[in-house]
Amino acid sequence: MELLYDERIDGDIANVDKSALMAAVLAVAPQLTLLDREEDLRPFECDGLSAYRVLPMLVAMPTTLAEVEALMRVCYEHAVPVVTRGAGTGLSGGALPLEKGVLLVMSRFNKILSLDADARLARVQPGVRNLAISEAAAPFGLYYAPDPSSQIACSIGGNVAENAGGVHCLKYGLTVHNVLSVDIVTIEGERMTLGGESLDTPGFDLLALFMGSEGMLGVITEVTVRLLPKPEVAKVLMACFDDVELAGKAVGDIIAAGCIPGGLEMMDNLAIRAAEDFIHAGYPVEAQAILLCELDGVEADVRADCERVRDLLEAAGATQIQLARDDAERQLFWAGRKAAFPAVGRMSPDYYCIDGTIPRRELPRVLKGINDLSAHYGLRVANVFHAGDGNLHPLILFDANQSGELEATEALGGKILELCVEAGGTITGEHGVGREKLNQMCTQFAADEITLFHAVKSAFDERRLLNPGKNIPTLARCAEFGAMHVHHGELPHPELPRF
Ligand SMILES: Cc1cc2nc3c(=O)[nH]c(=O)nc-3n(C[C@H](O)[C@H](O)[C@H](O)COP(=O)(O)OP(=O)(O)OC[C@H]3O[C@@H](n4cnc5c(N)ncnc54)[C@H](O)[C@@H]3O)c2cc1C
Repeated sequence: MELLYDERIDGDIANVDKSALMAAVLAVAPQLTLLDREEDLRPFECDGLSAYRVLPMLVAMPTTLAEVEALMRVCYEHAVPVVTRGAGTGLSGGALPLEKGVLLVMSRFNKILSLDADARLARVQPGVRNLAISEAAAPFGLYYAPDPSSQIACSIGGNVAENAGGVHCLKYGLTVHNVLSVDIVTIEGERMTLGGESLDTPGFDLLALFMGSEGMLGVITEVTVRLLPKPEVAKVLMACFDDVELAGKAVGDIIAAGCIPGGLEMMDNLAIRAAEDFIHAGYPVEAQAILLCELDGVEADVRADCERVRDLLEAAGATQIQLARDDAERQLFWAGRKAAFPAVGRMSPDYYCIDGTIPRRELPRVLKGINDLSAHYGLRVANVFHAGDGNLHPLILFDANQSGELEATEALGGKILELCVEAGGTITGEHGVGREKLNQMCTQFAADEITLFHAVKSAFDERRLLNPGKNIPTLARCAEFGAMHVHHGELPHPELPRF
């Protein structure tokens, strides 16, 4: 196997003279905030995956487009790598800094530039919080549909870079389905607009390519999002099960019956107890699993759908079904689900969130497999998932201070993802690959596919200065990891460029 490029980029970058770099940046962008003292850098040493920590050489916090362009030009000229950061809520180490790199923090790009209620779109800067878009659109009866559970904190730039999903993505789509265009600055410091207000644009769909590109192809400096009218009515049914696998089967039954809920989420007993203890959402703590099923639309349709779904849940073996009495109770049911990660965090010194997808029909089998793995490794696993999408979030509870527990947790997480791939799924549903899942990329993809990913990266960033060492593993790593290549045929394209 041949090394495509060295992931140990920190060791390979020629010794960068920090003072010279700062002087060069400030010469072209004198107002740009640069941080280089250890106490100022410390808050940026990790994202939501705090097991990995690196102090960046320098943090840059621009407020203008001209500053971003100037910074990129200087970094390009000096061959200094750049990692872009939004709000730092990512769970795969995507915004993990580099010891010899610049961390470009976009949080001061936090303005909603325009909101056109008639055209149902908003132009926003990338540091705008996800929830702030819906708050700004609410007076017009509109909202931005993708709603990651981190929506009070995460930025729309980070959402685009991760192609974020959320509770309501089953019906309304992921970020990719709700963004009309993005403006970017390339590593050479040039501006580009990808996509547009019309639904189709000529040429390759570079906008789609940017969705989930994890800061590897360019810096997102503006996003135009689609806004949707708020549904007339939304109702939530909570169904309780005394068997997790039965709840998993009920999910498939609902979709197979032709019903597309606004959201269809599942939590197992450990997650239910954690959330109930934290939020007091009214969850039944004795249930082995609950399903939250939201039905939205016009009143008559919602009423009919509620009846239909209630029948399906009963037939699937639900022991109790409760319709949220009013909007306050509906919000409370969702609050418990959206707080499930921090709630689980209160039960254990540490937890590790896994993010894999599987075909819905495989839910019962995979849940049993996770249970068996949890017993084998002796580590508790709380399951929370976007069940309708088949997007699993097993949360492994561990104590990093106990010798060997972190390693066992990583091994268990890897096994769960392999189980997902074997079941016909993927190693990430929405949290991205980042630094975390480089090995699992080797499981998912064959060498030719990984080579093709490098070729795409190279087309945008030939010198591999943007977020190097993330998202795409080297072939050498895959050889070392002993990749399984569970699916995908050979690509009819052996002659790829070399790097
Ligand atoms: C409690 C909790 C719950 C979560 N729930 C969900 C969920 O339901 N659904 C979901 O999808 N995710 C979820 N996440 C993960 C995370 O919130 C998302 O991945 C989110 O999209 C990250 O946004 P951010 O602004 O924090 O990005 P960051 O963490 O700062 O960065 C993430 C990646 O995006 C890149 N990036 C950021 N901004 C830019 C930019 N302007 N230009 C180019 N690249 C950029 C970074 O380089 C990095 O690779 C959750 C996280 C937590 C902590």
